[in-house]
Amino acid sequence: MDKGKARLKSILSFKCPKCLKEDLFESKIYQLSSLGKMKDRCPHCKENFMPEPGFYFGAMYVSYALITGQFILLFSIVHLLNLDWKIWEFISFFLVVLVILAPINFRLSRVIWLNIFVSYDQRYDNM
Ligand SMILES: [Zn+2]
Repeated sequence: MDKGKARLKSILSFKCPKCLKEDLFESKIYQLSSLGKMKDRCPHCKENFMPEPGFYFGAMYVSYALITGQFILLFSIVHLLNLDWKIWEFISFFLVVLVILAPINFRLSRVIWLNIFVSYDQRYDNM
């Protein structure tokens, strides 16, 4: 599998970016009490999911980009549908969407951030 495809698969399935075999997180996405609980290492390839203390602070930048993209996308959809909403109506709607998507954005930003630093290892192709 080429690295771009592997990276996309890792991000969309929240799997280890090195081997794509194991989940990064310990629970299902809307189990809010354990939303941020990650495995320390991949049980399959032993990749360290916490390379240094505070590693995931950088994921805030990814989260910012994701939310900005979602804002632009929703704003464009509302504009294209000619919904004629007032700005406070749109912002209220966006805040509701933001709360609903918060767990997904949180985990997506972490898995994207980890994928920036860890690449797929071809040795795990047939393992
Ligand atoms: Zn792994």
